Amino acid sequence: MTAAIIDGKAFAANLRAKVGELAAAFEAEAGRKAGLAVVLVGEDPASQVYVRSKGKQTVEAGMASFEHRLPAETPEADLLALVEQLNTDPAVDGILVQLPLPGHMDEQKVISTINPDKDVDGFHVISAGRLAVGQPGFVPCTPLGCLMLLKDRLGSLSGLDAVVIGRSNIVGKPMAQLLLAESCTVTIAHSRTQNLPEVVRRADIVVAAVGRAEMVKADWIKPGATVIDVGINRVPAAEAGKTRLVGDVDYAGAMDVAGAVTPVPGGVGPMTIAVLLRNTLVAAYRNAGLELAADAI
Ligand code: NDP
Repeated sequence: MTAAIIDGKAFAANLRAKVGELAAAFEAEAGRKAGLAVVLVGEDPASQVYVRSKGKQTVEAGMASFEHRLPAETPEADLLALVEQLNTDPAVDGILVQLPLPGHMDEQKVISTINPDKDVDGFHVISAGRLAVGQPGFVPCTPLGCLMLLKDRLGSLSGLDAVVIGRSNIVGKPMAQLLLAESCTVTIAHSRTQNLPEVVRRADIVVAAVGRAEMVKADWIKPGATVIDVGINRVPAAEAGKTRLVGDVDYAGAMDVAGAVTPVPGGVGPMTIAVLLRNTLVAAYRNAGLELAADAI
């Protein structure tokens, strides 16, 4: 048996196109563009790449992008003042502070300064609380992207056994909440879980968000299961001095057992920014007091 490949790249492109159409409709109705502000502190190379592609894709979707780059030694108070200013700026619907922040800054404090109605990253404790109790709010982009791929593949998830490996606040925990809200029976596994292969073998849905190259082996996977690989790990390539990206799942092995698998790269990765744009559009409609049909996006 060969598993189906879940094409996150194509799904994300469709989602961005849909956001683009709705962003044009929003502009016509509201008389302004939906706007996303991205704040980058310091010169972390990976963060610079992310911020650049976020800005580019925001503009391509027909929304306004406001980039704020601050030097690494910026006092925390200055960053907080910028966030406060963005909170009250009517042109800004979504605020994203790129993590990690330099060591002298308290990330939690910075995130809790963001107005929860502009928290398009979904990292604010109020966003986490809203997700936990089932109120409308913002859900972190990566797990929401995983859920979209799962629903596209499987339709209803009700009653399915789901195992999420990883319990971080940005992936594992919100992923588990989303699956629970879809009426899955959810297990959250982590570094202290005993008999992890056995736990994973029960699952109709496996979401691996660990950060360990190819940890999940083919014989951990229930035949026909749907496997979502969030992991991004850089490992040495066959060619000397080169590296390549792999996920948390042994992809080649999983292809022989699973029903469907996301590749790395090209699976979950492209979904994250597409969902960020989607969240920004939803924020824009809410902030402008305009209706967006629940099933619009
Ligand atoms: P964290 O490091 O915050 O969390 C990793 C989790 O994995 C922890 O809960 C940890 O358990 C668990 N874990 C570690 N070792 C094991 C083990 N041997 N067995 C079982 N569980 C284990 O990572 P993130 O959640 O931030 O990210 C996870 C992966 O997803 C990374 O590879 C990251 O690069 C990738 N990622 C990809 C994104 C994308 O856009 N595609 C976005 C975000 C992340 P414990 O809590 O006990 O320590």
